[in-house]
Amino acid sequence: MFRNFAIVPRIIFGRGSFNQLDDILQEKRTTGGFMVFILDDVFKTKPLEGRLPMRGNDKLVHVNVDQEPKTGYIDALVEQINGFSEGSPDGIIGIGGGSTLDIAKAVSLLLTNPGSSADYQGWDLIQIPGVYKVGIPTLSGTGAEISRTTILTGPEKKLGINSDYTLYDQILLDPELVTGAPKDQWFYTGMDCYIHDVESLAGTFINQFSRAYGEKSLEMCRQVFLEEHDDAADKLMMASYFGGMSIAYSQVGACHALSYGLSFILDVHHGIGCCIAFDQLEEFYPEGVAEFKQMMEHHQISLPRNITASLSDSEMERMIGVALALEPLWENCLGGNWRELMTPERARKLYERM
Ligand code: NAD
Ligand code: ZN
Repeated sequence: MFRNFAIVPRIIFGRGSFNQLDDILQEKRTTGGFMVFILDDVFKTKPLEGRLPMRGNDKLVHVNVDQEPKTGYIDALVEQINGFSEGSPDGIIGIGGGSTLDIAKAVSLLLTNPGSSADYQGWDLIQIPGVYKVGIPTLSGTGAEISRTTILTGPEKKLGINSDYTLYDQILLDPELVTGAPKDQWFYTGMDCYIHDVESLAGTFINQFSRAYGEKSLEMCRQVFLEEHDDAADKLMMASYFGGMSIAYSQVGACHALSYGLSFILDVHHGIGCCIAFDQLEEFYPEGVAEFKQMMEHHQISLPRNITASLSDSEMERMIGVALALEPLWENCLGGNWRELMTPERARKLYERM
């Protein structure tokens, strides 16, 4: 069966396009209604906060992403927003990196679907469209702006709410918004995109749809991370979008599977977790890993080492369990007989090197 997948219907791209947000929202405003701006708290009191086109009863909610989004946090935000008024807001506008984009997606869905966000971790469990939502990235790489998932850590699992309703109704891609990001964070999140491309292109699920997006995204990543370009921020923003489109119709692979384990047990953030894992995966992606090391050197990025050294045996086993449960990722990486190739012992050896 071929997947018949939805994509984000409206996109605005360009330096300064943030200034058009007011016009975009105007069309969705109802009499007496209000918008909720969900802003990464790194921008609290910063110029971007002052540029939000807030009107009338609009609300501003700061979110903290020191930890990646948890289902409990989403539920608390939904309760807070429900307390603002009897009715739902006219729209939710998420502004920040991948974590904030995921928070805004999940909040939009849980404002219309009953229960806890943890109830919807999985595939196509959402039944009711969410509130109108706009995504505005301030970091480039995750592809969260274009994906049909919002990745959440729940009491039992780290798993996305995957559905066509999860997609943004509108995204606004303004490369000027990423300029203040710290260099190491810019690199880690950018490498998430590079790794999406490598894993998609090297995978057994590859097809011309995913290849078309993946190859272009990879080319732009090379320009951004190995060359100097005045419009590097524009390139990386589009590389992120294309990388997301590439995996939308294929899959990621070994690096993402192992990084999920790191993140679940050690609370390592997605971008840096992918870098730590990818650094040890020459046996899966020889050319990609060699080029990744070149990129790290070019930007003088060093990674934390020995992060798994202090884990107990049972923690290590749980981490391996989380990674090996991601069956489609391994099948994409190694093919249908992946279980014979990717044993728990092999996963342990890889983790021990990280
Ligand atoms: P992030 O959103 O976790 O942010 C990382 C740090 O950068 C935070 O401290 C944040 O406050 C800060 N930051 C963000 N923008 C900034 C800016 N312009 N200037 C200064 N600081 C800034 O980072 P990320 O790598 O973009 O996102 C990772 C998250 O994305 C994870 O939670 C991961 O699970 C999720 N993710 C989602 C998808 C998806 O398809 N939904 C895909 C990949 C990753
Ligand atoms: Zn990723």
